[in-house]
Amino acid sequence: MEERTVFDWIEEENKGAGQAGEKEFGRMKELVKTLNEAAFAYYVDDREIMSNFEYDRLYDELAALEKSTGVTLPDSPTKSAGAGYRPVSKLVKSEHEFPALSLDKTKDRQALAGWLGGMEGVLSWKLDGLTVVLTYRNGTLLKAVTRGNGFVGEDVTHNVVHFAGVPRRIGFGGKLIVRGEAVMKYADFEKVNKELPETEAKYKNPRNLASATVRLLDPGIALTRPVTLCAFDLVYADQGADISDPNSKFSQLEWLKKQGFTVVEHTLVTSLTVEYEVGRYEEELPGNEFPTDGLVLIIDDEKYGKSLGSTGKFPRNGIAFKWQDETAETRIREVEWSASRTGLLNPVAVFEPVEIEGTTVSRASVHNVSIARSLKLAPGSGVRVYKANLIIPQIAETFDPKGETFVPSKCPVCGGPTVIRENEGIETLYCDDPGCPAKHVGRFSYFVSRDAVNVNGLSEATLEAFIDAGFVRRFPDLYHLDRYKEAIVGMEGFGERSYDNLIASVEQSRSVKFSALLNALGIPGIGKDMAKQLSRFLGENACERFRELLKERYDFSTVDGIGAVINDNIYAWADDPERFGEFEALLPELDVSDDAPAARVEAGSEGNDPVYGRTFVITGSLVNFTNRDQMIAFIEERGGRVSGSVSSKTDYLINNDVNSGSGKNKKAKELGVPVISEAEFMAMCKGN
Ligand SMILES: [Zn+2]
Repeated sequence: MEERTVFDWIEEENKGAGQAGEKEFGRMKELVKTLNEAAFAYYVDDREIMSNFEYDRLYDELAALEKSTGVTLPDSPTKSAGAGYRPVSKLVKSEHEFPALSLDKTKDRQALAGWLGGMEGVLSWKLDGLTVVLTYRNGTLLKAVTRGNGFVGEDVTHNVVHFAGVPRRIGFGGKLIVRGEAVMKYADFEKVNKELPETEAKYKNPRNLASATVRLLDPGIALTRPVTLCAFDLVYADQGADISDPNSKFSQLEWLKKQGFTVVEHTLVTSLTVEYEVGRYEEELPGNEFPTDGLVLIIDDEKYGKSLGSTGKFPRNGIAFKWQDETAETRIREVEWSASRTGLLNPVAVFEPVEIEGTTVSRASVHNVSIARSLKLAPGSGVRVYKANLIIPQIAETFDPKGETFVPSKCPVCGGPTVIRENEGIETLYCDDPGCPAKHVGRFSYFVSRDAVNVNGLSEATLEAFIDAGFVRRFPDLYHLDRYKEAIVGMEGFGERSYDNLIASVEQSRSVKFSALLNALGIPGIGKDMAKQLSRFLGENACERFRELLKERYDFSTVDGIGAVINDNIYAWADDPERFGEFEALLPELDVSDDAPAARVEAGSEGNDPVYGRTFVITGSLVNFTNRDQMIAFIEERGGRVSGSVSSKTDYLINNDVNSGSGKNKKAKELGVPVISEAEFMAMCKGN
């Protein structure tokens, strides 16, 4: 296979075409189409529309027809990069002889001159595609490997041979290693995306498409995709290359052109000309056929550049320049007004999703009414979006405005009237209703707290941000945060990882004890302890039972420890359609379980359990239990109570330092309350 290059094979394959009958030709067309669809679905889409057996059968039929007719259709899956084509089953890892490190970045164009000092540099586009390393020997392509992590990439030779800009043969016979960027023109990107069947996911941008094409397993598909490989660096050449100045990066690129490579546009610069040249590239930017994400500046003197070494992370011989802020054009879908706890209604521009700096954004906060009005944010208005500090999406400006910004007269959360307040010329919109739920962040932070439904790691600040953004209006909304994934991931201080952690915590919180849920609802007077009491009274299927008793208008004041005031509070809550509706909407989200094993409650006595009905006080540090709350839960599960201070009603004081002189120990001794260690407590429970 090394002797015969892939190009020879392709040429031979298409040379001696004989005559095919119409019937055979039709069948071959059909087979090619079916097989390509199946391969695409399987390898690219992860979807199996045909069994391997069926694929092999059709493939063999096609191969036989091609042999008998001598015709191979241009997009036939049998057209191989190697002998005996099959789509590769996976990409094989391949180590780079010369690590491909990425460059340090700057956004400051004035810094470039200082960085160059007295040296000459080569300025070129930083193309936005996938980097591929080509190795030639004896004038032919040996292999093409993706950049990967810089040290190890994937062998993609089978696709890269089909790309424009990759010469079939070069005049130079020694070993040559070249880096290039596989890129796709904007126009071709649109075309390929449009031609994808409706069922296929469309690609987001030319980089995604170029990158997917490079890594295809089936070169039959790569063949139909117009990808260009633009060489940007000569990594290594054996002695004997007739480069006019072998030590000059500029001369090397010029030489690569002569060998037949498509080479990235490049310019020789000095500290005096670099800023001007950057400006010239910038002017070219709007007309560029290929996507770019900045410029690259490399020291021309290769030996000197290499002598600078690297910072550990970045080589010192080059620097990437990024344009100030990457912007994207899109159109407004709507302007949302999201409420905060202060009653402030913030405009949020919701637009067609666009990719900026590597993530998809679709929302940007607009801060106040004045800014929204000056930007003329209305559905359909064209806007340019950027990410401030590369993180927070912002609207830079509007083009093609479609009318004035509509400012709502009603609060989107509670429907109450809104007012515009003016301060130093800046207008802001407020909800004027004191009962507006948006103002009750506290209610939500209590709901998610540890003794309530317990959403671990959901801070009040985060909750406030979610409420502001309109992601959370009622308790059940907490269980549907995934609807706003992209917006949350893009929030300041958030990321994919913290989003995943949050969702995991939310999922975990779905299974909840009834008393914790009751506590979470925030009914005045029903805190953690009262909720447990009520739950114990309700017994088995506490949640269902609670709803039944509410319907019957059961008098809860008859329950031990629950007075008339709390009974009134319960019914004030249950009769409020807003609140009770919220509770009902919450139930399908949760898996509510009873607090204590029902049998224990039904026993109604101490039984044999020394914990049941006893009051404990815990002091000092614990050894067996991870923390005090865990021990409290253990005691309460068994029907015991835990109190904060020692009194005549205390049955046991649990203290690992039995002889400590603490106030609680003294008090216990005075009152004759036994002081036991954690180990003794455990022994007591086990003895049961
Ligand atoms: Zn409101």
